[in-house]
Amino acid sequence: MVDCIFCKIVSKEIPADIMAEDGEFLVFKDINPKAPIHLMIIPKTHLGPVSALSGENENLLGRLILKAKEAAEDIGVSENGYRLVFNVGRDAGMEIDHLHLHLLGGKSMKFEF
Ligand code: AMP
Ligand code: ZN
Repeated sequence: MVDCIFCKIVSKEIPADIMAEDGEFLVFKDINPKAPIHLMIIPKTHLGPVSALSGENENLLGRLILKAKEAAEDIGVSENGYRLVFNVGRDAGMEIDHLHLHLLGGKSMKFEF
């Protein structure tokens, strides 16, 4: 999609610290990390945020979460734990409308949201 920063990361027009890539998903480090480990897991195809999705996206959403689980294992936070976050809309502070799942870890977040 034109002018989508995450589409440009997928097409390598914009550099990113890519941790994993397959035919369907890309995993890269968040440029402004909110935790010692902060990864983005995105579909390579431009899809909108969760609020724009429907039943036809349910299988992809499942695979996206499993890809995040795999990324957590690869980066070594599985044992201590991690948080998976979808920001949806303005009140959540969503900035980018290309579907993305945040993976946060590397510190205790018990009392933070
Ligand atoms: P959200 O607020 O849920 O829309 O999150 C978007 C995330 O993308 C933020 O945490 C940003 O720090 C991150 N971000 C924005 N631009 C880039 C970029 N060029 N490379 C990596 N992460 C980015
Ligand atoms: Zn996009």
